[in-house]
Amino acid sequence: MLENIRVVLVNTSHPGNIGGAARAMKNMGLSRLVLVDPLDFPSGDAVARASGATDILDAAQVVGTLEEALVGCNLVLGTSARDRRIPWPLLDPRECGVASCEQAAQGGEVALVFGREYAGLTNEELQRCHYHVHIPSDPAFSSLNLAAAVQVLAYEVRMAWLAAQNQPTKVLKLEATAIQSSQPVTADELESFYGHLQEALVEIGFLDPAKPRHLMTRLRRLYGRSEVSKLEMNILRGILTETIKAARGEHHKQGKADV
Ligand code: SAH
Repeated sequence: MLENIRVVLVNTSHPGNIGGAARAMKNMGLSRLVLVDPLDFPSGDAVARASGATDILDAAQVVGTLEEALVGCNLVLGTSARDRRIPWPLLDPRECGVASCEQAAQGGEVALVFGREYAGLTNEELQRCHYHVHIPSDPAFSSLNLAAAVQVLAYEVRMAWLAAQNQPTKVLKLEATAIQSSQPVTADELESFYGHLQEALVEIGFLDPAKPRHLMTRLRRLYGRSEVSKLEMNILRGILTETIKAARGEHHKQGKADV
């Protein structure tokens, strides 16, 4: 599906930006780069800035006009550093990501079009686009570096794509045991911990069973909002066991903690 989304760079002057854009694309799983009349390409600067995304540069299609770059496209999204340069249907980058993925998922072809470093896209070029996309930067300094703008839109495409695939956007690399130990404790486990805690507090003389006041209530409130995990609960229980032993003068091994 991401192969249906092409990035079109119009009249880029700095080859380094082409390389930076290729790198940004490859990071986000996009592979189709179309260059409209670039000033200097192929170029060593592009290769250097691509830092490993040279396959995208090698496969880049170089064309003479925007019209050629947009052949076969069902959805054309034109980016502009200035908000509302001409009145046109406007999307923010997030909506752009979702719209691109929806179109691509239906087998449609999508183009994300980026302008010249110094002048952006002309009004004529912008009018060839179905939507305009503006990255909501500070109006006092609104223009991003070209490759940085590609990065923002490519990232939003990836987020929308991951969501559409039901793939997690957070990389969970926890081992099975770690996942288990990070599970929150159950109400009954918490309840038996309170019993154990109370026993230890009485044992060390901190809690007077004849005058308990609100100590246990307050401790319940404290632990209740702590979202204690099973692993953490084991540590707390271990501490209580050793505390009770120490208070009773029973021998205890040093450094039992195994966390
Ligand atoms: N001086 C130009 C700036 C162009 S920046 C102008 O005022 O239009 C080069 C390209 O990066 C732009 O054509 C656009 O494709 C992209 N870009 C930079 N900042 C952007 C922003 N805030 N929103 C969307 N695209 C942006």
